[in-house]
Amino acid sequence: MRKIDIFDTTLRDGEQTAGVNLNAHEKLEIARQLERLGVDVIEAGFPAASPGDLAAVKQIAEEIKNSTVTGLARSTQKDIDAAWEALKDSAEPRLHVFLATSPIHMTYKLKKTPDEVIETAVQSVKYAKQKFPVVQWSAEDACRSDLPFLAKIIEQVIEAGASIINLPDTVGYRSPAEYGQLFQYVREHVPNIHRAKLSAHCHDDLGMAVANSMAAIENGADQIECAINGLGERAGNASLEEIGVALAIRSSFYQAESRLELKEISRTSSLVSRLTGISVPPNKAVVGKNAFAHESGIHQDGVLKEKSTYEIITPELVGVSSNSLVLGKHSGRHAFRSHIQKLGFEPGEEQLNILFKEFKDLADRKKELTEEDIFALLLEHKIQPPVPMYQLGDLQVNYGTNNIPTATITLKAPDGTEIQEAGTGSGSVEAIYNTLDKMLPLPVHLKDYRIQSVGSGRDALAQVYVLLEYEDQEINGSGTAQDVLQASAKAYVHALNKTIMNVQKDELVNVSL
Ligand SMILES: [Zn+2]
Repeated sequence: MRKIDIFDTTLRDGEQTAGVNLNAHEKLEIARQLERLGVDVIEAGFPAASPGDLAAVKQIAEEIKNSTVTGLARSTQKDIDAAWEALKDSAEPRLHVFLATSPIHMTYKLKKTPDEVIETAVQSVKYAKQKFPVVQWSAEDACRSDLPFLAKIIEQVIEAGASIINLPDTVGYRSPAEYGQLFQYVREHVPNIHRAKLSAHCHDDLGMAVANSMAAIENGADQIECAINGLGERAGNASLEEIGVALAIRSSFYQAESRLELKEISRTSSLVSRLTGISVPPNKAVVGKNAFAHESGIHQDGVLKEKSTYEIITPELVGVSSNSLVLGKHSGRHAFRSHIQKLGFEPGEEQLNILFKEFKDLADRKKELTEEDIFALLLEHKIQPPVPMYQLGDLQVNYGTNNIPTATITLKAPDGTEIQEAGTGSGSVEAIYNTLDKMLPLPVHLKDYRIQSVGSGRDALAQVYVLLEYEDQEINGSGTAQDVLQASAKAYVHALNKTIMNVQKDELVNVSL
């Protein structure tokens, strides 16, 4: 069986999703989970974008050992130097350098002739090879490039030292058959192509990103670039989870496999969704809430008699737990610890005490505690900034149909002191948010507020997502609690803390691929 490398770009292309703004701590949490998931390559960011981006990529490169860490660079020495600074201490420093090759991009964006573009590409790869053992070169907008020109530039960048050639469908334009033909053409017309691996990078503008990626595999691509939950520019990138599961379920057809730990898929999807604030649609393949729900009576009857009648993927394959009770209020500290270790959490003693207390509190109040509840509780801690920030203390809300809603809130400041304030609003949530604004006066504007339940039932946990606008940045926050008002307050405090952390964040340069 052919081995397909999974190249995850959640932290680079995915981070360019509108409304997504991850800080260094959040990126590291996602990178750790991607490592557990077994992705071959993690594209951790674009180091030349800002000193903050560089530092985040550096931290990931230093910590992650079982996946290769790479960073994106334009074809300039400055970008390549920034990437080297970020990646030089990684297990296998790898650069991802790109240049546009389509007439429209060369003429209007680069303002270069085709020969000048070849010269720039070759020089940048040669320069990168002096530092990096592995250089991946991408032909931006490959799908709208002149094919003989594409073959010529690829031959020369391989000669210059590139060992992975990526052919992105940057604008999400191609059909699977056409995208497959592009790979075939390159394999047939680039004389030294055997010295490089071919890679696919697809966007979902026409809903064909995953199909195009699979077509690339059929036509010789050995690496697929994709993102968790299909995040990415515009309509997003190909979904990692769909590609991973398609390769596993249809391995006999594709005669190919990946080294993904599929049982980590559901948790990875949840973590990315919580941290980015982008929820997963219920009907999304593999990770949507309804992906394994059989609604029609005929289907239910079939599945009860024999699962494979209507079920080609088992929930267990991707780590979706059954709704059975996993731990209860009589579970001890030891059982709790070993259970959360299985979920990838390694708390210190102090953190374990806090988590265990929260678990006991929750177990007292909620009839049935599912794996989803426990994971939500753990995520609540995972998403908090690593440095002491403001914490929600007491919350009291007074609401009556004939009263003005009033909130009284206590916040614990990073220095340990407590501040208290009261405020009103036209509704309970607004009263809470007005009060918090008085306590932490920042010029933020609430752009979005969403609430959903974790699992089902009247006593289900509430998960609230908020999106704040601060100057020209958008900042997400989320909070989970059994009470919707408490979850709302937590989400807002979470977003305010992130805003405070972001205040000094520098200007970003954005690139697309
Ligand atoms: Zn892209």
